[in-house]
Amino acid sequence: MKSGEVLRHSAAIDEQEVFSLIHRPVELLELQPSRFAGRVASWAEHAERRYGDSINPVMTYVESGPHHVSWIYHEGEDWRSGERFSTYHIICDCIAGVEGNSPQESVDSILGCRAVLRALQRRAAFVDHKYRTCEILAALRDPDTGDFEQSNAFHKFAVKTIGTILELDARHPKEWPGNVINGEHRVSVLSTLFQLHPEVVKWYGRLLAESGVVEDFDGEILKLRPESLAA
Ligand SMILES: [Zn+2]
Repeated sequence: MKSGEVLRHSAAIDEQEVFSLIHRPVELLELQPSRFAGRVASWAEHAERRYGDSINPVMTYVESGPHHVSWIYHEGEDWRSGERFSTYHIICDCIAGVEGNSPQESVDSILGCRAVLRALQRRAAFVDHKYRTCEILAALRDPDTGDFEQSNAFHKFAVKTIGTILELDARHPKEWPGNVINGEHRVSVLSTLFQLHPEVVKWYGRLLAESGVVEDFDGEILKLRPESLAA
C-alpha cells in the first residue's frame, strides 16, 4: 500500500513533504530565550490588544527571510466560542492577517509554511538527541529487511519512545518536543524524528491506542490519554 493512496484525516501537514526532509541538515538560528520579531510581534500585539490575550514566546527559530517561528505560551478567551484557553503552540509571522485567536485555528493557518516545517524538523532533531532514538534504532535495525519487518525489540523501543515524548510534552511543554500544539503529536513529525516511513508510525499509533496510552487514533494526530499520566 502506498501512503499516497491512504485517506487523509488531516491534511494540515503534508507528511510526504516532511518525510522528504529526512537527512537534510537544517540551517536555522535558534534564539533562546527569545523575543518576537517582525510580524509575529505585530500579531501578538494585535491579539493582546483586540482579544486581551497574553502571549509569551518560549523559543524562536529565525531563518533568513520574513519567517520567525516561535513556540509560545498563549492564554486568552476564544473570540468566537468564548471559551478560555491556556496552552503552548507554534506560530509563524506569516500568520499576519488571519482573523480569530484560538490556538488551534492559529496553528492550522501556518502549517503549510516551509519555515514551520523546518523548525519542526529541528525540534525532531532535539528529541532525537535527547532520547538517542536514531542511534538506538540503528543498533536494533536489521539492514536486510524493511521498516515493518524489523524485530519486536525495534518496534517496542519506537512505541515506548513515542509514549515518552507525549509524556514530556504533557509534563514539560516548554521543552517543545516537536509538536505543533501542546497535548498532541503528529505522525508526520514523528516519522521525521524516527526516520521511519509514516505508515509504520501510523501502525505504532494504532498499537498505542489499542493499549490505552493514546486516545482513539485518527491516522495523523496522537493524543495522550490523561489516565496515562497518573503515575
Ligand atoms: Zn511562515
